[in-house]
Amino acid sequence: MIANRNWKSIRWRIVLIYFLLVFIALTITGVFIMSQLENYQMESVRNNFTKIVQENVMSLQEYDDLDANREEIQADTMAWSESLREELFVVNDNFIIIASSNLNFIGKSGLDLLEQSVLVKGLSGEIAEIDSVLSSGIPVKNMVFPIEKNDRITGVVCLRADISSVYETQNQSRAIFLRSMLIALLVTVFLGFFIARSITVPINDVTQKAERMSQGDFSQVVSVKSDDEIGQLASMFNLLREKLDYTLSEISNEKSKLEAILKNMVDGLLAVDLEGRVILANPAAMEMLSITQNDIEEKQYDDIIKVFNKELILGQLIRNCGVGGFHGSFDHGGKSYAVRYDKFQEENDQDAGFILLLQDITEQQKLESMQRDFVANVSHELKTPLTTIKSYTETLLDQEISDVSTISGFLAIIDGEADRMNRLVRELLQLSRLDYKQEKLFKKESNLVSIVNSAVTKVEMTATNKGQHLNCIFDSSQKIMSVIDKDSIDQVLLNILSNAIKYTPNGGRIDVDLYKEGALAHIIISDNGIGISDKEIPRVFERFYRVDKARSREMGGTGLGLSIAKQIVEEHGGSIGIESRPGKGTRVTVALPLAPMRGIQNIE
Ligand code: ADP
Repeated sequence: MIANRNWKSIRWRIVLIYFLLVFIALTITGVFIMSQLENYQMESVRNNFTKIVQENVMSLQEYDDLDANREEIQADTMAWSESLREELFVVNDNFIIIASSNLNFIGKSGLDLLEQSVLVKGLSGEIAEIDSVLSSGIPVKNMVFPIEKNDRITGVVCLRADISSVYETQNQSRAIFLRSMLIALLVTVFLGFFIARSITVPINDVTQKAERMSQGDFSQVVSVKSDDEIGQLASMFNLLREKLDYTLSEISNEKSKLEAILKNMVDGLLAVDLEGRVILANPAAMEMLSITQNDIEEKQYDDIIKVFNKELILGQLIRNCGVGGFHGSFDHGGKSYAVRYDKFQEENDQDAGFILLLQDITEQQKLESMQRDFVANVSHELKTPLTTIKSYTETLLDQEISDVSTISGFLAIIDGEADRMNRLVRELLQLSRLDYKQEKLFKKESNLVSIVNSAVTKVEMTATNKGQHLNCIFDSSQKIMSVIDKDSIDQVLLNILSNAIKYTPNGGRIDVDLYKEGALAHIIISDNGIGISDKEIPRVFERFYRVDKARSREMGGTGLGLSIAKQIVEEHGGSIGIESRPGKGTRVTVALPLAPMRGIQNIE
């Protein structure tokens, strides 16, 4: 992975390029210098030969016949060659060596002992030369100069010199050059390595940091050490990192916001792709469908939903969307859910799947049914007294009843029913005002002891008429202060007390207690009457709910008393509870917040 360990890395490529460049440049220079050196040396041998010939040998041109002057020429040759390192041969036009610095050659054929080709050229009037190697292995240069007399070539002078020193110099120079080239190349590789390193180290730094960034660590900062291209790369990297970090944190913020919304949504949200896989389900949806994360990963959407409603399988959703239907419903676990769905598209506007919104409509349905029941109840409650009034008035009008007591009996019934209707309408209006918060409550700090006492006094007579024992078992001298609307609380107490009297047989017992506990005042009204079964208790606060409709109506009840009491108590920040055992009695508890403690109390 790390580039600098690879022979194909930039570092080694730069070293190799440097090496090759220096190698090629030095080789070209070397070859050029070597050949120039050799040329120079050969030229100097050549010049030497020419000089010797010009200075000494030109006198041979004076002889018409070389053979005839052999001895004289030999003597001259010996004299000339004394100061020469070169060998000197005088060859006549028959290729016979007639004089030589080397006595062994005299009188012998030049064709055998000297270079034949140059002798021939020399005798044809050319100055010729050739390099050759003697049988002893010594390299020599042969040069032939023609001897001309009256436009006739009388012979040639052949000079031969040992040029092994030239080759030796050449070899030594080559060796020196190769050594210096080797040193130069080593220095090049060494320097190249460091130059390459100065380029690759920052690049590797960027690479390593980019690698760490790809693993999610965005704390990487590359140090910018120069203003060149690499410095720019480093600063661009830092800029990129900052932007990427910012963008990613933005995305992650958005994602967590979205996740938080999905997680805390009361409604269920489900996304299904066109292959029928569930691609998203928030916790609410999972709870509504009783599925786990495993189910989502392993099961198809159709397998999950068909248990609840076959009309919601994917094929049906596609069909329904085509005809403009976008909703359905299902029931599960005692609750009702409404399902709204629609297609969602990918970026290229291609359908990608369906989004389903699941809403718990149990409460809504309950409310709707309560509203329906309420209308039915009100109509029923009004119809009964109206029917009674109607039938009695018809009887009075149609039949000639002369009996005054019967007439006043009928009228009393009509009056009673009209009263009941009046009470019913009054209570309904009060409930409606409480619902819409229009009931004006004039709250004032008051002593609950006196309010409870006054309520008890108001019903005392009724209880006494039924032979019931109505007892206040609290200490009437104490003061229990609460911020209340006296009239409303009075009504609450009257409703509860009259219930206790109504639903307790003659001669029964009703106890009223009042005490403070913590920040609350508790008013307890208990009786030993008919009681209420456990099943009915949660419903007694519902509007129009009556355990025994006939008995309640007979007692003048409307089924609204406790629901009005509950609403008033809650308006005061308190609570109301009921405990009961059939045949044993009922205990109603009203808890109201105590007034905050003050230095001087405005007591009523
Ligand atoms: P109602 O006008 O019928 O009394 P309430 O709302 O006051 O209406 O009470 C609802 C029902 O609760 C009553 O019909 C009655 O059946 C039951 N209930 C209330 N108080 C008592 C009690 N002290 N003992 C037995 N049943 C009671």
